[in-house]
Amino acid sequence: MASFLLQLPNTTFRNLTVSASSSSNGSVPSSSNEASHVSGGTGKGGPVILELPLNQIRRPLMRTRSNDPHKVQQLMDSIAQIGLQVPIDVLEVDGAYYGFSGCHRFEAHQKLGLPTIRCKIRRGTKETLRHHLR
Ligand code: ADP
Repeated sequence: MASFLLQLPNTTFRNLTVSASSSSNGSVPSSSNEASHVSGGTGKGGPVILELPLNQIRRPLMRTRSNDPHKVQQLMDSIAQIGLQVPIDVLEVDGAYYGFSGCHRFEAHQKLGLPTIRCKIRRGTKETLRHHLR
């Protein structure tokens, strides 16, 4: 893990922290660079990566879609071994979290009995939510 602080002369990018990390098995380190993404919350700063409890993620379309059990099993094996490598996408509207994709990863976590799942959270409006539910 290496961290560099770049001091640029112009005022737009006064302090830019560039981080690079690696691990021997290619997995995402458990304490990656999330803190820098989290700062500023889910406001203007774009998506944030956070571990959310599974039971805090509403999945309105869950009953209308069925997962491939073989895919879920493969993901369970892989996640148990190397952890979740790609977070699931989650929409935050008025403090509530909604998941519409990442269904196999979500089910794999449920079946593994994991309490939380790593999420890429974007903030949206009620209109965004309605659009997803159409
Ligand atoms: P989902 O419904 O969860 O999106 P897919 O089978 O369509 O299921 O995709 C699985 C996704 O899970 C892929 O994008 C893959 O990169 C990601 N992934 C994250 N962690 C792992 C892991 N440990 N092993 C395998 N795939 C993983």
